Amino acid sequence: MTTSDLDHLLARSRAAAAPWGSLTFGERERQLRRWATELVRSRTAVIATVCEETGKPRADAELELLVGLEHLRWTARHAGQTLRGRRVFPGILAAEHQARVERRPVGVVGVIGPWNYPVLTPLGVLAGALAAGNAAVFKPSEYTTQTGRAMVEAFARANPGSADVLRLLPGGAEAGEALCRGGVDKLAFTGSTRTGRAVMAACADTLTPVVLECGGNDALLVAEDADIGAAARAAAWGAFSNAGQTCAGVERIYVARAVGEEFLAALTAELEPVRAGHHYGRLTTPRQEEVVRVHVEDATANGGRFLIGGPESFRGAGLVDPVVLADVPEDRPAVREETFGPVVVVRLVRDLDEAVARANAVPQALGAAVFSRSAGAAVAGRLRAGMVSVNGMLTFAGVPGLPFGGNGASGFGRVHGREGLMEFTSAQAVTVRRADLTGSGLTRLRSPWWKPLVLRALIRLRHG
Ligand code: NAD
Repeated sequence: MTTSDLDHLLARSRAAAAPWGSLTFGERERQLRRWATELVRSRTAVIATVCEETGKPRADAELELLVGLEHLRWTARHAGQTLRGRRVFPGILAAEHQARVERRPVGVVGVIGPWNYPVLTPLGVLAGALAAGNAAVFKPSEYTTQTGRAMVEAFARANPGSADVLRLLPGGAEAGEALCRGGVDKLAFTGSTRTGRAVMAACADTLTPVVLECGGNDALLVAEDADIGAAARAAAWGAFSNAGQTCAGVERIYVARAVGEEFLAALTAELEPVRAGHHYGRLTTPRQEEVVRVHVEDATANGGRFLIGGPESFRGAGLVDPVVLADVPEDRPAVREETFGPVVVVRLVRDLDEAVARANAVPQALGAAVFSRSAGAAVAGRLRAGMVSVNGMLTFAGVPGLPFGGNGASGFGRVHGREGLMEFTSAQAVTVRRADLTGSGLTRLRSPWWKPLVLRALIRLRHG
């Protein structure tokens, strides 16, 4: 698209936003459900496109679509009750008024997506933006343009009269930056922390508010009293499904020393038969393969050792078999940065206190998991992460009523659930006069004689 194409597209989105925003929640729910139905009808083509563009196996693409549809359905259904206006006690200064908070749509939301979950990630964001009454312009990753196109076209087929409410902006970084500067009312970005910074800087010029869902570097904490078999299975799935290209996937494991040997034996047994190209797909981009290789080489050159895998795990063309590293110094990129590949770093620790301290010691704070029979929920409260699964793995991502998002270098703002709906609205405070008991005496330029006496009495009575 050229800049003038984008201007034209944004103008059409803006024109579509007002009528869409004034529909009832029930009518928007019907249209969003029709979108879901159309995605299901065209799922064979959508899934084939996802597999072709990302290299993930069919079952992974199916799971992604299912989770995405769960979010779409929940959001469409709960928008009305979540965003209904609410009355507020007016207080003594406005006792003659009724006070309300209304949640208004922001207008046009720009949505920039990543390639690792090209259906689930944007669907969760778009569901919130649209259900709250906004129009959206969706720029998918340049690696997954056709998946993005399939989603947008499904919406248009399902709701021909509302086709301008969701439009596609194809393109790469330049298109993303143009969207940030194009005059949208809010920008929802999902991608790397580095790009998140660029997005926020571009949006700063126009004070366009942003939601940033950036990279993670999640830890799995295994306590002495954990179910070790369950923890090992969770570690394998959390670190290696989707070839480790999951924002809230496990990148670091901290295991209590007392159960270290047992855990590593269970993890080894779990991973023994696992092969790239069979149990998970290829790394999606050559750049990603390079990052993974650099992190592993740096780790092993600085004291790290292979517990599982080795240099032979890199089989070429994006196929990387599972790599588990131990003894990696905590200041190396494999620990400090997001590797985003089928690699996980394990460290034995004294106890949960040390595990918590190490888990919190990196800049990212997206998700985390704790395995413990007694202390999981308490440990969750000590983690900086925006999401925690206790005795589970990534469970929060599949619960549509829960907010999704992180802190620190993982960004801010939330998608999914109630918070994800609120994110795409703006609070409007409204007061309505119900009576005129004092003749507006307290807020009149030409004050009545008693005004200073009343004000002085109020200050003393209320705050003295
Ligand atoms: P990326 O940062 O390279 O790209 C993300 C999107 O930003 C793409 O659509 C890209 O075209 C666009 N973009 C690139 N430069 C831009 C610019 N200057 N201005 C505006 N847009 C620009 O990320 P990626 O490689 O596509 O995705 C992987 C990353 O996404 C990982 O770090 C992963 O952790 C993160 N991620 C986070 C979440 C989350 O919810 N927190 C979910 C999925 C992925």
